[in-house]
Parts: sequence; C-alpha cells; structure tokens
Amino acid sequence: MKAVRVHEYNQPPSLDDIPEPGIEGPFDVLVKIDAAGVCRTDLHIIEGQWAEKSGVGLPYVIGHENAGTVVATGDAVRGVADGDRVILHPLVTCGLCRACRSGDDVHCSDSEFPGINRDGGMAELLRTSVRSVVKLDEGLHPADVAALADAGLTAYHAVRKAAPQLHPGDHVVQIGVGGLGHIGLQCLLAMTAARVTVVDMSTEVLEKAKTLGAHTTVVSDGSQVDQIMDLTKGEGAQIVIDFVGEHGTEADGVAMTKNAGSYYVIGYGGNVDIPTIDIISREINVIGNLVGSYNDLVDLMRLAATGDVTLSTKQYDLDDALRALDDLDGGRVPGGRAILTT
Ligand SMILES: [Zn+2]
Ligand SMILES: [Zn+2]
Repeated sequence: MKAVRVHEYNQPPSLDDIPEPGIEGPFDVLVKIDAAGVCRTDLHIIEGQWAEKSGVGLPYVIGHENAGTVVATGDAVRGVADGDRVILHPLVTCGLCRACRSGDDVHCSDSEFPGINRDGGMAELLRTSVRSVVKLDEGLHPADVAALADAGLTAYHAVRKAAPQLHPGDHVVQIGVGGLGHIGLQCLLAMTAARVTVVDMSTEVLEKAKTLGAHTTVVSDGSQVDQIMDLTKGEGAQIVIDFVGEHGTEADGVAMTKNAGSYYVIGYGGNVDIPTIDIISREINVIGNLVGSYNDLVDLMRLAATGDVTLSTKQYDLDDALRALDDLDGGRVPGGRAILTT
C-alpha cells in the first residue's frame, strides 16, 4: 500500500510502497483511511522535534488525524462492522488502567499514538483498536471531519472544561482564531451563553470570526489588554482561552483574566510567568489542555452532525502529500486544514 514515511529527520518524507497491516489482536480494527489531516505537528515531527519524546524508529508512517471505512475486525470486536464509516480517536488506549476506567483516555498509562510513536494514517490502511473508533453519523464524510480527530478535539476539550464556569452573559476571551481557534469559537457559541470576544493580529481572520458568530473582535495592536478591560468594565474575562501561547499572549492572557477566573493554555511555545502573590491574591487558575477524551470526540461529532461545528478544508490526493505538507509549511492553507484523501 501507499504510505507517507519519514526516513530521516529534516528531510522531506517519501511516498513509499509498504506491506499492508492486518488484524493482529482480538480488539483490532483495520480501517481504510479515506481522509487524513495534515497538521503542524507533522511538520514538527519531520523537523525532529518529537524524536526524543516519541522514541519512534525510522522509517515510519506519519498521520494522526484519521477517518475512513472499517474493512476488517478482530474476533472480539462488537459494535462496529465492515463498511462502517468512522473517525479515529488519536490514541490507542489499554482500557484497563485507572485513567482509561475514568474516561480520561489521554492519560492512559499504556497507550500508543499512531502517527506519533508508531505507524499512522497517511496511508491506505491503518490498524487501530475498537476502543478508538467512533462511528460517523450518515451525513458526515471522513474528509469533512478527519481534522477534528486532533485539532478539533483539543479545542472541544478545552471548551467543554470551561463551559460549566461560564454563566449566561459572562465574558470569555479567545486569543487566536486559526486552525484550532475557529473550531474553539464554534464550540463556545454552541455550548455556552457567554459573550465571546476574539483577539487576533489579523483583521482578515477576525472578519471570519465575526461571520462565525463572535460577539466582539479585538485587533491585537498593543492595546488589546486595555480594550478587553474596557469591554469588561475593568474586571477582565471569566475565562481566557489562549490558542497561541507565545509571543506575549501568555502575559496578555493572564492580564485579561478576571479575579477567580481561569486562563486556559492550548497553544504553546512561550512561558507563563506569574508572581505567586498574584496567583493567590487574585485566586486565578492556569489550566493546561491536551487533546481530548474518546467521549469528547463522540460529543464533537454530534456538533459536527448538527452543523454547529464545520471545518474549512483544502483537499489533496494522498499522492500529493508532500505538496500538502509544503503548502502548510509555506502558509498556503490559511484558516483551514489540509486533508489527504484516497
Ligand atoms: Zn494534529
Ligand atoms: Zn489505559
């Protein structure tokens, strides 16, 4: 089968012909990958940034945002059958550890991450576990939702955690409205009755945020903290969700957070530097967010099925994977997600 494999870090991957995976264990599910999202993490993998963390041996197949059609199942698999269209939770989890039993799939103590630490989905077939497959509603097509498996799931997960703290009319500030941010915005509008203000440097993406339903937009031009304070009568926002996490948004985000409110970190790269006296006197929280659970993905698919969350995509044939990676790297997939289709 065709597969996009990294052979050497800092070199472009290649489209290889490799043996097909098969069913090995009773809970395995073999999926024909109809759509695989191309993610900035793939670029970071190619750059070698994940080499030590993942410990993966080269060559291997990248691709961790996968959706497709079930073509074979292990003996113990129930609930999914050949021909079912599915989206894959990005982790393959054990189902037995304490985290798994409490539904916290991301912190499974014995998990694999196809596309990160073993062969992934930029290929014609991927072997996963029945624990990772979510059946798609009839109206949903793999190419429309594949990128929700990671990017969208992360945004949903943060909003799902923040939603109980947002009462009607509370202010929420979202910093950054790119690939993840535009999904986060739609989740905030669908799941809360809060007033949503979006902060970004680009007036173009702020216009898009307005069409998606953002109540207020603020251009990040140096006066963004003051503008948020004016909007919130000097109090700040109950929740700030930072999709950037570098280049100064960390300090802005903390400054924009209301006393006893929470600053949610999604984007990363920078440092959060808060005097401890401020943390206690203002009683603010800094909340990390990592991917999302299986149940988060199920719920996000419900929002996709009702049209409350939609994703703008640019599709490429699997044969054109290198061009898709190059376009992402060169900023030629603005405000959307590149998807490989077969
Ligand atoms: Zn991703
Ligand atoms: Zn587990």
